[in-house]
Order: sequence, then structure tokens, then C-alpha cells
Amino acid sequence: MLEKGALLFKFKQPKEGSLDETHRTWFKQMQELGFLVSTSGCIFPYENFSSSSSSNKGRPRAHKVSFLFFKGAVPSAGTKRHQHGWPTAMQVSHLCHRKQCINPKHLVCEEQWKHLKRNYCGEEGRCNCGMKPKCVQTYHGEDWDYQDEWLRYDTEDYKAKVGALLSGLRYVILPRDHYASVDTRLKKRLDQERKRTSSSVVSEEEELFGEQSSSLSSPTPPPPLKKKKRW
Ligand SMILES: [Zn+2]
Ligand SMILES: [Zn+2]
Repeated sequence: MLEKGALLFKFKQPKEGSLDETHRTWFKQMQELGFLVSTSGCIFPYENFSSSSSSNKGRPRAHKVSFLFFKGAVPSAGTKRHQHGWPTAMQVSHLCHRKQCINPKHLVCEEQWKHLKRNYCGEEGRCNCGMKPKCVQTYHGEDWDYQDEWLRYDTEDYKAKVGALLSGLRYVILPRDHYASVDTRLKKRLDQERKRTSSSVVSEEEELFGEQSSSLSSPTPPPPLKKKKRW
């Protein structure tokens, strides 16, 4: 994903988002793999999140995971029947018509008939389906060749460009090697622990880990052998 130009985001959850730990974990897992942000403002997750299969332990598709995180649970349909018998189940629609997109600004929860009515919107090049909020792009078929590009770490001014597209969302973009460096720091610490327990040398620890040592929960050091002997 990173090699395709994915950016590592850390989104802040709005207060209306679902507080269910499972929902938040789904989003976190999706987020840690990076997102591809297109010049059209769409945000695409890693491919594995585009489907909901039995192996995903009930996890819905990416856009629903995003909807839960940013906007909360999808309300169930009212008991009222539509006057013409149209389908009223509540669904999450894409205002951009791109099924994989997880940008919460492109997602809206609405009755199924409205969702369906958005299809084939924009024959004359602008939203004409009559739905509110309006579609942010006109509808294209499944195999349409979109011409938008990815904003990557090496795109000039990528932070400003992403900022303009995603205004209203709260996030930070982590450095490209964020998770790799977390892994390296953790490995270093474990190596150090191993060294320390085998040789009982503790003096370098503070110097090596500096300010990190306060945030990482360092395991309780084993009682020094010498003291034990005294007892
Ligand atoms: Zn979109
Ligand atoms: Zn429309």
C-alpha cells in the first residue's frame, strides 16, 4: 500500500462517532495500512477492506467502517411505509459514486430509494438526481477510467493539498516510516531487555531510551541476583 502512495493518517474521532470498541478497532486496523488520497478528494483503503467476507469476523465493508467511526451507527428504518411502496431501508450512499471511498464527507445515510436514485446521476455533467445533499461527482460505470491522481509523500506540498481536500476532518499525517520506526524502537528495547537480564547490566538503559522510557511500559526489572543472595 505504501509503495502505491498511501499516506499514514491518524484521524481524530468526532464525538458523534461510534464508541463501540470493535468498530474503533476495525477503523484502526484499516487506518494503519494507509489510505490513498486522490486529487478528487476520495480516500481509498487497502483492498482487503473493500469486501466483507466471513474471514473478517463480521466486519462490514470499508465505507461502513468509516461511517461508524466518523458518524456513528446507521439508524434503522422507520416503520413508516413509503407512500408509493419504495424501499425505505437505511443505507450508506456515496456522494462520489466510488464504492471503495471512505471519505466521511462523501458518505450519507439515507433511504434505499434515494440511494438508488443517485445512480445514473449527471448526464449533462452535473448532479441532476434531485437528492440532497447533492452528489459531489457525477455517476460513472464500474469500469470507468478515472483520471485523478494519488497524493503521495513525494507530491509537492502534499500536506496543503490534502488539507484543502479534507477540510473539516481532524487528523495528522504520520511520517512514512512511522510504524517501521515504532517496530525498530520496540525491537531495540526488547534486545536491550534481553541483554540486561542476561548480564545484569542496567546502566545504559536511561541513555538509550531517553524520553521513550516513560511512555513504554517497561517490564518490572528482575531483582538483582546479589541482593537475593543476601536474603
Ligand atoms: Zn469519494
Ligand atoms: Zn446526484
